[in-house]
Amino acid sequence: MTTDLTGRVVAITGGARGIGHATAAAFLARGARVAIGDIDDVAVKEGATALESTTDATRVHHDTLDVTDPESFDRFLDGVEATFGPLDVLVNNAGIMPVGRVVDEPDAVTRRVLDINVLGVITGSKLAARRMLPRGRGHIVNIASAAGETYSPGLATYCASKFAVVGFTDAARLEHRGTGVEFSLVMPSFVNTELTAGTSGARGFRNAEPEEIARAVVSLVDRPRSRVRVTRLFGAAVVSQKFLPRP
Ligand code: NAD
Repeated sequence: MTTDLTGRVVAITGGARGIGHATAAAFLARGARVAIGDIDDVAVKEGATALESTTDATRVHHDTLDVTDPESFDRFLDGVEATFGPLDVLVNNAGIMPVGRVVDEPDAVTRRVLDINVLGVITGSKLAARRMLPRGRGHIVNIASAAGETYSPGLATYCASKFAVVGFTDAARLEHRGTGVEFSLVMPSFVNTELTAGTSGARGFRNAEPEEIARAVVSLVDRPRSRVRVTRLFGAAVVSQKFLPRP
């Protein structure tokens, strides 16, 4: 079952590379208009150029965005709506994942993880929902992680951040029931991106590819569900889904 996404306006944070970039490509392939925002101003321009080369360039927009700065986030969304019109979908994807024992982690790093992975998602969700609620439609997809429901040594602060995203998104979804504004979660296991380049992945699992996560994000917009988990178990992508509670 698919929805017509032609012309839909989709904004993706951390869209310069990795899962965010693959998600942008997947929405473009379905005819949507897509904006990518990223703190890396060089990479976001290169990422947009790569997307433009695959499609009608007028359907691609990019901007520098720091999700930890609410003014930067609001300006990004203003730019998206000035370019394409009302925002239909926000994918809160930007994230970082330092690896190591928490006792060795500098406080500045701990705070940065929570600032980007948690406050960035909450800020983006609030700013997007405020735009979507008066229109009675919209979808906010938050990229959490398998680390948002299971814990891994070496990822304590990252786990804390992703558990927070899960709790926030589940509560926000219930708060918005009946408004036309959907909240969903994508919970990937390890994925082959720069984020995991220095890690060995999960034991017994193979890493997924960013395109598999991108498909899961698009499928949520096709058919709203509360969450989708994507795990690559012994070579095959295992996707499990949890449906929205009945109103
Ligand atoms: P990535 O490092 O390839 O891309 C993340 C992007 O976010 C980068 O382009 C980076 O510049 C951007 N970014 C960082 N800080 C930012 C900020 N303050 N404002 C705006 N942009 C910022 O990572 P990825 O693997 O594609 O991860 C994307 C999301 O998926 C993250 O939330 C991550 O936690 C989550 N995730 C990844 C995996 C994995 O194994 N790769 C697994 C589960 C969840």
